[in-house]
Amino acid sequence: MNHALIAAAERFRDWLVTTRRDLHQNPELSLKEKRTGMTTADALEKLGLKVRRNLWGEGFIADLDVPGAKGRIALRADMDALPIQELNQVDYCSRVPGVAHMCGHDTHMTMGLGAARLLVEHRSQLKKNVRFIYQPSEETPPGGAKGLIAAGCLEGVDEVYGVHNQPLLEVGKVATCTGPMTAAADTIRMRLTGRGGHASRPHEALDPIPAACALVSQLQSLVSRRVSPSAQAVVSITRFSAGTTHNIIPDHADLLGTVRTFDAAIRDQLDREIGQMTAGVAAAHGLQHEYEFERGYDSIVNHASGAQALCKAAIEVVGEANVDAKYPAQTWGEDFAYFLQHRPGAFFVVGSGNKAKGIIEPVHSARFNVDESCLVIGSAILAKLAMG
Ligand SMILES: [Zn+2]
Ligand SMILES: [Zn+2]
Repeated sequence: MNHALIAAAERFRDWLVTTRRDLHQNPELSLKEKRTGMTTADALEKLGLKVRRNLWGEGFIADLDVPGAKGRIALRADMDALPIQELNQVDYCSRVPGVAHMCGHDTHMTMGLGAARLLVEHRSQLKKNVRFIYQPSEETPPGGAKGLIAAGCLEGVDEVYGVHNQPLLEVGKVATCTGPMTAAADTIRMRLTGRGGHASRPHEALDPIPAACALVSQLQSLVSRRVSPSAQAVVSITRFSAGTTHNIIPDHADLLGTVRTFDAAIRDQLDREIGQMTAGVAAAHGLQHEYEFERGYDSIVNHASGAQALCKAAIEVVGEANVDAKYPAQTWGEDFAYFLQHRPGAFFVVGSGNKAKGIIEPVHSARFNVDESCLVIGSAILAKLAMG
């Protein structure tokens, strides 16, 4: 790892670390990223970028225009923290009780700033104009991506890229893929309603519990019998609730679960077929039913051209041995998905873990942390990507 951009970013490592720790100590929840937006927009403005603030909430864009350059590449960073009490014992701990950057969006914003600084330093080598997109509310659906896109953040943009830190990957490693990278994560809710009664006289009641049990069993056949063996899907019932005590047949039974898919057609199919199955089982038992399929974020589907450009840049910066171009599709959700529905590009992860230093906690853990060398590496890769 001796690329010139790494060396250049190493020269301002202290600034990267200070910037990240400042953001880390002052986390803000989705749609409340006021200070976060102000400080990062100020920093980009100070570097000489043209900033358009409050494009959507605290979200903004910052343009680096280069005379004679053709086209524009966009790099997106997300800005929000999570409602978690940080349990790390570090001197830059979150100062806000119950709120912390436990998904590492502080590192993404810092990588954006680092890339901007590198690109300003290497302005003469730029062939494309660059746009930084700072997006609020990634963690809370419907998410800020759709809002910012509707507000025009992709106007004049030809390609778009997003980065996430990944503590389950050692620092220095980079991964991406062509095609689906994250799942569409949807929530299902079902209620079967019968008629309650005395447990000793079931024939006078309409018991929803055996029907709900049958429905849970039936649902297991959807992925195995209705989804192509070459495709992937998950249907999990995660909560089954009915009744209050031993001698009362309850009125209704409630089921809650999750559906994870990587293909829009299979997602629609499961929505439809879970609904049909719920209606069918309810009818077979003489019950009423309610069914809801609540959509979370769409699946991120990386474009082949975007993944290729990313791998090329990453290989130059960290070496071929450290770049995984076939990262398996992840079951978490990300609203970067929507950017790729409008422009070609790709999403990638930068390793932020370090087993030797005990940095192994996943994102969303109260003890999540990163090896801050990821700030240098992320900055260099984003800059390289923009330089083409
Ligand atoms: Zn997250
Ligand atoms: Zn995240």
